[in-house]
This record gives sequence, C-alpha cells and structure tokens, in this order.
Amino acid sequence: MRIGFVGLGAIGMPMAARVAEGGHDLVVWNRTTTRSDALAASHPAIHVAATPRELAVGVEAVITCLSTSADLEAVLAGDEGLLAGMPEGALLVDCTSGDPTASRRIAAQLAGRGIGFADAPVSGGPPLARTGELTVMLGGRDVDVVRAREVVAPFAGTVIHLGEAGAAHAMKSVSNSLLAVNILALAEGLVALAKAGVAPRDAVDVINASSGRSFVSEVLVPQRVLTGSYPPLFRLALLEKDIGIAHELALTAETADPLLAHAREMYRRLRAELGEEADYMEPIRAAEQAAGVELRG
Ligand code: NDP
Repeated sequence: MRIGFVGLGAIGMPMAARVAEGGHDLVVWNRTTTRSDALAASHPAIHVAATPRELAVGVEAVITCLSTSADLEAVLAGDEGLLAGMPEGALLVDCTSGDPTASRRIAAQLAGRGIGFADAPVSGGPPLARTGELTVMLGGRDVDVVRAREVVAPFAGTVIHLGEAGAAHAMKSVSNSLLAVNILALAEGLVALAKAGVAPRDAVDVINASSGRSFVSEVLVPQRVLTGSYPPLFRLALLEKDIGIAHELALTAETADPLLAHAREMYRRLRAELGEEADYMEPIRAAEQAAGVELRG
C-alpha cells in the first residue's frame, strides 16, 4: 500500500518507522524537516515530501499524528494542504489524540470529497510504538474501519472499534484523564509517606501488592521516579490537552465531573509553570521539590 505519514514527533516517528518496516511504500512529511530527513536517513526506502499536498498525491491512506485536531485542520487546509492532494477513495487515519467534535467535522468534510476517515488514537508510548504493540482505538464507519485496521497493523497490538467518527477520540481523552489523575494522586501520596518516614521503595512495593496499584505505580514510578530518570517521552502539555477534551466531553454530555475539572485546573497550572516541553511525569518531581523530599532510591 502507498501510505503517507504526517507528524514525526515523539510517538509518530517510531510509528512511521514500523509502517515502512511493514513493507508499505511510505512517504512522510514533517513541519520541521530535520525530523523527516533523520527518518529517511535511517530508512532509505522512505520518500520525503516537500508539502502535505505532495505527500497526498496518489496515496491509498494518510496517517496523521499531530499535537491537536486544530493542527490537523491546519495541515488539511490550503493550496499546499493534504486535501489539495488526497485522491477520491483514499482514507485518512488520524492517530492524533484529538477532539471528537473536530473529528466529526473532519469526517463530514472528507466524506463530501469521497475520502474516508477513521480516528485512531494510540496508547502505549514510544517504547510500544517501536515494538508494534500499541493499543489503537478506532472510530468511524465500518467500511473505513476495515481499511484502517490494515493501515495501523504495523504498530498495533490491540485494536478496538468504539463507534462512529469521534468515538475513539472521546475514549482516549477519558483514558488519559485517568492516567493524569493517577499521577497527581501518587505524587501527593508518595511525598506524604516519605515525609512520614516510609521509604519510597517500600511504599511502592506495598501499593503494588495492594488495591491502590495502577500502571503509574507498577511501571512509571519504579522505572522513572525511583531511579530519578525523567526522559522526555510525552509532553505534559499534551496530557493537559487530553484532560481538557475529557472535561468538554462531560460538559457536552451534561454529566458531573468535579474531580476531572479540578485535576484539569491543576494541569493547566502545571503546564504554565513547567513549560511546553516538560514531560508528563514532572508533576511528581515538582511535588518532591515543593515538599523538600527525594523519592529516588
Ligand atoms: P510531539 O510534540 O512530539 O510531536 C508533535 C508532532 O506534530 C510533530 O511532528 C510536530 O511537528 C507536529 N505538529 C504540531 N503542530 C503542527 C502544525 N500546526 N502543523 C504541522 N505539524 C504540526 O507529540 P507526540 O508525538 O508525543 O504526540 C503526537 C500525538 O500523539 C498527540 O496528540 C499526543 O497526545 C498523542 N500521543 C502521544 C504519546 C506519547 O507517548 N508521546 C502516546 C499516545 C498518544 P514539528 O516536529 O515541526 O514540531
């Protein structure tokens, strides 16, 4: 299949590499060309397009993995945008963790041109992207989802179809909100325990042998907090974006979300304080600093 890939960020880069290694004919575009050039240098069969329009000419499918749905709408638009080049019958598979309302709007816009759409947010981070074991959530019409399954196969472990366009983006926002709340809860709990004299390693061992355990306590805290290692894997700014989408979802559905609304305010503050490039585990380091304790060790 000839596939275009737009957005070679922290997770898009290893996903695109998997698509190329899966035997597809891959053409890539990234706003910052050093990233597309670096990928092409390590995978000589990959073509680099000069514009999104050039990338889209003649493709069967385009995968996008951008920061937000607004960025996708910007890349679709204009004389050099994706829509100017995408042929009728092609499919857009959007792996951005996007906004369900925008995704429904984009799906309708593409349908008017005979182009299919599936929202396809992913979970698992760059390490599972590299091994092709991401969880992929799919939203869209059955006819598009059948094709999208084939497109995402090189980087997918688990694939779940959740409903019409936008359903997968709604799902992803809620799933990441649970992650976000869990990080804050562990930051508060571990710091309080350290101040009360419980060794962080012991605290984590007990949590992980008890009912309070989670992905954050079982994987992220031992690998990162206890080792004092905070490599940039996923920007906190993007997690703040996800929790904002989940909050909008609750507002639209008119369901109560007092916990989420409060956590969202905390993430807004953290984003402003820590900056656009801070990693999503940094709130734990910030809590350590505020309390004057170290969890490492
Ligand atoms: P990064 O910030 O590392 O990369 C963002 C990508 O989007 C870059 O390629 C960037 O280009 C591109 N981009 C952003 N805005 C525009 C624009 N207006 N026009 C053109 N290109 C643009 O993000 P990630 O790769 O980490 O995340 C991408 C998506 O995947 C996000 O929605 C995120 O929430 C989601 N996600 C991320 C995970 C992770 O572990 N990192 C895990 C699961 C989902 P440039 O290089 O020029 O800046």
